[in-house]
Amino acid sequence: MHAQEFTLLSGPKVRSSIYADLKQRVAHLAQKGIVPKLATLVVGDNPASLSYVRGKVKSAAKLGIDSIQETLPATIEQDGILHLIDRWNADPSVHGILVQLPLPDGFNEELIQKRVALEKDVDGFHVENMGALAMKGRNPLFFPCTPLGIMKMLEFYGVEIAGKEAVVLGRSNIVGIPMALLLLHANATVTIAHSRTRSLEDVCRRADILIAAVGRAEFVRASMVKAGAVVVDVGINRVDDRLVGDVAFEEVKQVASAASPVPKGVGPLTVAMLMNNLVEAAERIQ
Ligand code: NDP
Repeated sequence: MHAQEFTLLSGPKVRSSIYADLKQRVAHLAQKGIVPKLATLVVGDNPASLSYVRGKVKSAAKLGIDSIQETLPATIEQDGILHLIDRWNADPSVHGILVQLPLPDGFNEELIQKRVALEKDVDGFHVENMGALAMKGRNPLFFPCTPLGIMKMLEFYGVEIAGKEAVVLGRSNIVGIPMALLLLHANATVTIAHSRTRSLEDVCRRADILIAAVGRAEFVRASMVKAGAVVVDVGINRVDDRLVGDVAFEEVKQVASAASPVPKGVGPLTVAMLMNNLVEAAERIQ
């Protein structure tokens, strides 16, 4: 890729190709009498969580994937959640379990995530799946959805990763850290930058591939981007009722060879990868 030719990394385009593949796989499973099923749990009444789960259930239905949903009040005892997960773990018709995060205060998120059977951990957040991802030569059963979606996006657009300098801005468990590990597995030379990183601009400017997951509107300016770099924007920030990414897109596209916009960038791929993980879970048990 050359800096002069700019490629828009379109989430919906990548999603279409993923869904075309998933539809075939779901049809193949149906011939064997298997309908993938997702079990979702929301604790409390956080509107964002409820809306995310609605979106996931809708996408599942479009692909012919079944789902069951439970909403428990924030006043429930933690044991109530654990029992529900146990029930889903033991139910052979459930292939994937999704506990929507964040949980309300007072719940032990780590314990609850750990209770999900490894082979149904379609979010990829189980400590054992994350642990395998952090080791060389080990294969987790599932990869976390947002970073996996970004890898699919890079693959779709033919972005070479091996031997490239990749900088991941952000070190959360759900995006930054697994993203860095996936890039490492793909043989990039990886730097993770965060709020304590010194000379952040210089670090970012080293990147052939720059992934922004900081949660700060238009944080990445053109001055932080190397000419010809590929820039992926994970950020979702609400500014005056608009969705804005972590990258100042209009400015950065003058320098980068490719960049993903917000909206219509990484966002659609997170749910697509959840569906991918679920279908994979169902395929494994046949
Ligand atoms: P977190 O808030 O958990 O993590 C943010 C990271 O950014 C932290 O590691 C933090 O560093 C770092 N950071 C914050 N400020 C700075 C700064 N000034 N300089 C350098 N680093 C900084 O966020 P998430 O990882 O959960 O999410 C990141 C963004 O991605 C959010 O906008 C979120 O909404 C979005 N998102 C989008 C998804 C999608 O599907 N598209 C899915 C998940 C998230 P430190 O660790 O030092 O505090």
